[in-house]
Amino acid sequence: MNTGSDAAQAVYLDYNATAPMRPEAVRATYDALQAVGNASSVHDHGREAARRVDHARQQVADLLNCSRGELIFTSGATEANNLALQAAYADRGMIITSAVEHPAVLETARAVTAGGPDSLMILPVDREGKIDHEAFRAAVAGRDVALVSIMLANNETGVVTDLAPLIEMAHSVGALVHTDATQYVGRLPVDLGDLDVDLLSLSAHKFGGPQGVGALFIRRGVPLAQRPLVFGGGHERGWRAGTLNVPGITGLGAAAEAAHRHLDEEATRITKLREVLEGELLAQVPGSYINSAASPRLPGVTSITFPGAPADAVLASMPDVAASDGSACSAGAPSPSHVLLAMGLSREDADSTIRLSLGYATTEREIRRAVDAAVRAVNHVCAVMRAADNPT
Ligand code: PMP
Repeated sequence: MNTGSDAAQAVYLDYNATAPMRPEAVRATYDALQAVGNASSVHDHGREAARRVDHARQQVADLLNCSRGELIFTSGATEANNLALQAAYADRGMIITSAVEHPAVLETARAVTAGGPDSLMILPVDREGKIDHEAFRAAVAGRDVALVSIMLANNETGVVTDLAPLIEMAHSVGALVHTDATQYVGRLPVDLGDLDVDLLSLSAHKFGGPQGVGALFIRRGVPLAQRPLVFGGGHERGWRAGTLNVPGITGLGAAAEAAHRHLDEEATRITKLREVLEGELLAQVPGSYINSAASPRLPGVTSITFPGAPADAVLASMPDVAASDGSACSAGAPSPSHVLLAMGLSREDADSTIRLSLGYATTEREIRRAVDAAVRAVNHVCAVMRAADNPT
């Protein structure tokens, strides 16, 4: 796989941070970059740009099984989450969310509700990273809940939420439901004819589109105050002002179409590769364990703990593999993963956990190389730690 000239030799296993662009998305983006035209202009150039945007909107709608008019293009999932939470909360009732959400939901929920106990409830998860359904029922009962926001799949562990029962309970008390589906879309099928969420966020760069573009799905007919984050010329039906990012949106559409076309086959192939990866690492590193191994997970995510081997040292000792310690989204902050801590891992184990995330271009050969590199790195780090503990 071509992951850029400098790191061409490294095995790229950081798809949850960002995936390499799919060739279809590169071609479509490049093509749009070479054209001129503001999608709001009335002349031919403008109409051509608008046509690209319409086409992309249809490609994303096809991936999700929704209609074009239910999609707002944004700068990514962070913005989509902000938009969703701000509009759905609209200064009333409360938001209920979970302890393992991405900061793009957690911090937004804290900001829009001012974090008071009457306006924000953050539900705990169990050792597998799952929300207890009875605890959820008790949380929504008898409260004025404006919005429930629960992710469809976790970025660190890959745990897939059993969302349907939660949606039903939330709707039964009149709450709207938002899901941050950033890590799920393009990896497993989403059918919005079936999954009854009111709002859903996605991001192109997690499934082979360009960075800096995403979308918010707003189900038609949902009672929602229009509360844009950006005011201006009324683009995107008043939800998001600003000249449309035509090349980015075009790339998003092309990635959505390509991901859609290969969804089943990629999910099966990537799951098998992950099984090889996990089986080999568990066999070769005594004491290691996979987080959320007993839960339904995304095909390509492994969160593995090597007790006693700090993740930063392990990663530094395996430069041939591009991976991550927990979430790459905490912008280099050295704090331990809030997701793993919420699942009950000790701080030491949370700090000794790496995330390997595979994707559409990952090969078996790369997995074999990654296993060798990781085993060597863990053994090396453990030996150094032992030597430090027992100076001669
Ligand atoms: N939500 C989740 C679950 C994510 O993994 C990410 C990206 N790491 C985001 C939101 C933010 O997405 P974006 O980069 O498009 O702002």
